[in-house]
Amino acid sequence: MYIGRFAPSPTGYLHIGSLLTAVASFLDARSNQGQWLVRMEDLDPPREMNGAATAILATLEAFGLHWDGTVVYQSQRYHLYQDALLKLRSNHQIYPCYCSRKTVQTEARGEGIDGLLYSGRCAQLPLEEPPVSGKASAWRLKVPSVTIAFTDIVQGKQIQQLDQAVGDFVLLRADGFWAYQLAVVIDDAEQKINHIVRGQDLLLSTPRQIYLQKLLNFPQPNYAHVPLLTNKQGQKWSKQTCAPALDIKQREQLLRQVLKYLQIPTAPTVDNIADLLKWGIQHWQLSRIKPQAINTEQN
Ligand code: GLU
Repeated sequence: MYIGRFAPSPTGYLHIGSLLTAVASFLDARSNQGQWLVRMEDLDPPREMNGAATAILATLEAFGLHWDGTVVYQSQRYHLYQDALLKLRSNHQIYPCYCSRKTVQTEARGEGIDGLLYSGRCAQLPLEEPPVSGKASAWRLKVPSVTIAFTDIVQGKQIQQLDQAVGDFVLLRADGFWAYQLAVVIDDAEQKINHIVRGQDLLLSTPRQIYLQKLLNFPQPNYAHVPLLTNKQGQKWSKQTCAPALDIKQREQLLRQVLKYLQIPTAPTVDNIADLLKWGIQHWQLSRIKPQAINTEQN
């Protein structure tokens, strides 16, 4: 049974870029007679926006993107992440890190794909050493010299030398919040997700996730990273680039636009949004999706 998902972070309203990802994952699931789950990735309260989670769900409903089962909230699943962390700790695959941001910066051993590479200083601390008093630690994963290769259905073959690209990365932050990389792997496994269709901005995170899947003995889902939508300047539409929130009144036009980006032939006149989605399901072909970003402001 195909099980897919859409996993928005409630940091803002849905915009055309997130609608594309939602529709792509929905069409892929439904055209494979699969289930389509929605998971709210509310792991980072400082970055979240009040009311965004409710608004996102209402927008999905308004676009006829009805999900299976009940929506899962990551903020209610800390126990699962804690269990996984304990498992990794008993296998000596993680260590507490007491370094300040400044130490991480000044001692970095290089530049990775997502920022500086951690020096590994705290990996040297003897494990029985008591925590630095009064200071909470982050927990980092030990990343040995390992190459992760996988084939993305849209983006093709990917290879990443994990220690050079990301180094020992954080699973639990010193402020007590869980890192996306750990939570996403645990939830995808726990929800038995076997097909992940999401935005291309997460392509470079995938090797970290595959490595964690291996350590935790989880099956590896299929991955398809769909192109990002960009503005005139070629920047990804996001909250930072002031992507306009979706206007529900324009939903047919917006959905038609997204279907076009997804290489679906123009649909005939329809009575309702459900018929437009039905057309999308009938004509969906993942193999037709091009890997390149799409500029939505170019004629
Ligand atoms: N929550 C992530 C985001 O909104 C997506 C995570 C995923 O699809 O793996 O960017």
